[in-house]
Amino acid sequence: MPIDPTAPYDDQNIFARLLRGEIPSTRVYEDEWAVAFHDIAPQSPVHILVIPRGAYVSWDDFSARASDGEIAGFARAIGQVARGAGLVENGYRVLYNIGRDGGQEVAHLHAHIFGGRPLGRMIG
Ligand code: 5GP
Repeated sequence: MPIDPTAPYDDQNIFARLLRGEIPSTRVYEDEWAVAFHDIAPQSPVHILVIPRGAYVSWDDFSARASDGEIAGFARAIGQVARGAGLVENGYRVLYNIGRDGGQEVAHLHAHIFGGRPLGRMIG
């Protein structure tokens, strides 16, 4: 079910619980700003989710309210995760789903990193 991007942040969403360690995940990276873990239902050989530690519903919310430090830290974390996964040489894709038309299902901002095979053109 797509989320309502205008709803307030719900601290019981699955990624909030995962951040607090209440549910398990296979973390591949964490720093002051972000945590990264494998998607539970990977859509490519490498499918990693990167989330900010801050409470933001979506990219819209994050880009409007996050501090410059949070935005820079999150952007650098995404690059670091992709490098750590060995994706730079062959390339990869970063995707944000936002709201209903974007098909966003979890109401805590997350960047998808896809890689490990040719990904086709843009939107499938
Ligand atoms: P969205 O459609 O919101 O952009 O993507 C949500 C992603 O979260 C999906 O790719 C889905 O497989 C993943 N996901 C949902 N629940 C869990 C979970 O409990 N653990 C992990 N690791 N991934 C999840």
